Amino acid sequence: MYKLNYIFNGISMIDFKKDYYNPKVFLEYCKKCKNYSKLWSCPPYDFCIDDLINKYTNVYLIGTKINFTNETINSITLDMIKDFTYKTLADVRKEIGAGLLDIEKEHTDSISLYPGSCLICKSCTRPQNKPCRYPDRMRYSLESLGFDVSKTANYLLNTPILWSSDKLPEYFTLVSAVFTNKVIDNIKDFFK
Ligand code: SF4
Repeated sequence: MYKLNYIFNGISMIDFKKDYYNPKVFLEYCKKCKNYSKLWSCPPYDFCIDDLINKYTNVYLIGTKINFTNETINSITLDMIKDFTYKTLADVRKEIGAGLLDIEKEHTDSISLYPGSCLICKSCTRPQNKPCRYPDRMRYSLESLGFDVSKTANYLLNTPILWSSDKLPEYFTLVSAVFTNKVIDNIKDFFK
């Protein structure tokens, strides 16, 4: 149905912030999303994003390319795209999430950033103003902190993001990251 391949890159936090951080623009986009203030993984936050980012010196980027076979592209009709996309992305994100948490365990002084908003619970506790059920597993995303994920995919992972229109695209791209003060030279080993 699909085949995954991973693309990796590393950049200093200084350079990543200089060229790919634009909270004024991207946090405005977040305000138009249905998840804004409804999930603990999404803004607005009760902490300073800059303070969080500035704790780390290095950024490791992980691009996950979900390649669809022609057979799959041709078999998913317009009315199936939404459900198929949701399920596929949820399955792949679960796999990526496990790898990211393993990196954090092995490389303390690091924080991982998930591709997209939290999908762990069917309904988030935030609307009831109750604490997150799984703070040990919930992570923020690059876009929710104000980074330009599309530009990152294009220029740092060489994998432009494609969107569904009336049919599935050739592939989907998910962008995750690890912010760290360590040098992580075995990052590929976590995503096999
Ligand atoms: S883990 Fe559950 S409670 Fe926490 S942010 Fe995700 S959906 Fe919300």
